[in-house]
Amino acid sequence: MEGGVMAKSIEIQGIAGTSRILVGEPLRNMGAWLPAGKRIMLTDSNVRRYYPSVFDPEAVIEVGSGEKVKDLETMRFIFERLVELEADRSSFLVGLGGGVVCDLTGFTASIYMRGIPFGLVPTTLLAQVDAGVGGKNGVNFAGYKNMIGTFTQPEFVLCDPQFLKTLPPGEIACGLAEIIKHAAIEDRELFSFLEDQVPAVLRLDPPVMENLVYRSLSIKAAIVGGDEREKGERRKLNFGHTLGHALEKVTGLSHGEAVSLGMVLAVDLSVKKGILQDSEGDRLKSLLQRFGLPVRLSFSVDRVTAALKLDKKREGEKLHFVFLKGIGSCEVKEIGLEELVRMVSEIIG
Ligand code: ADP
Ligand code: ZN
Repeated sequence: MEGGVMAKSIEIQGIAGTSRILVGEPLRNMGAWLPAGKRIMLTDSNVRRYYPSVFDPEAVIEVGSGEKVKDLETMRFIFERLVELEADRSSFLVGLGGGVVCDLTGFTASIYMRGIPFGLVPTTLLAQVDAGVGGKNGVNFAGYKNMIGTFTQPEFVLCDPQFLKTLPPGEIACGLAEIIKHAAIEDRELFSFLEDQVPAVLRLDPPVMENLVYRSLSIKAAIVGGDEREKGERRKLNFGHTLGHALEKVTGLSHGEAVSLGMVLAVDLSVKKGILQDSEGDRLKSLLQRFGLPVRLSFSVDRVTAALKLDKKREGEKLHFVFLKGIGSCEVKEIGLEELVRMVSEIIG
């Protein structure tokens, strides 16, 4: 997109304030969204290598890349750098990177000096559709993902489709799994659009990607709105994730791949329960497959169910499971852990 073209914008009302999501806004326009005062950019080594010219050398905090740096040790490093840079409450932190950088930025900014304002520039497809809305942030601790963190809204989230061009294909697939999820649970039209646009999406055609990110974010924003603390409606966003997280743990698959298989399992469970027609479930599986996401379940039931039990122990025996009713519509039902484990065994076994 060239200058003069208006970005699409979504406003998110959170308990802790309002944030603006700008989709299709080029990074060079970010200045308009920054307050006066010291601007500090947080990024990872990969992103900095790909986009060196984006950074003002004066105030960059660079962390390593990947999920392994999403921990308290990195937080400590960031706080030390913030102190060195003499950051105070008039400073503004900008996170430029994938989900890891966005999480670290949000969490650090939310507690440094009891909170400084921050903005996010997600550079992965997953982070563009996932990390921006909802104000969740956090780091991993004691083997648990996002065990420590806060709910804090960024001032803005700027999604520039140009960043997607340097992403490895696996990273694109991860984001697509999340977009397909949003379409499957809430937006039949978006689902059809995805079915029609497979080649353009695989080419990362900027207007198409921008459209996907915008519509996906709108769905998430509508669901999250007024439900910031993970109850009710927001549970719908866990579609494919209850089992997906368990699979991610035991199989070493990426988040997107695991969620793809989690959605396939949820579809099979929904059909088994008589909630979903076979043909609708097949539509979802076929779309996942066309985007190169895995749909075949071939792993040991015992390991998956063990991971599921471990994961859910903290929540008690009952859990909220998201069933699909049709493309574009879903239903959250309480299900006993034992019942879920039994049904999964029947499907995989
Ligand atoms: P997520 O997939 O949750 O957004 P990360 O923040 O771990 O996760 O990002 C995944 C990987 O992609 C990291 O190694 C990161 O450095 C790299 N990365 C992030 N943005 C880009 C980009 N625009 N181009 C190339 N690599 C990127
Ligand atoms: Zn996810």
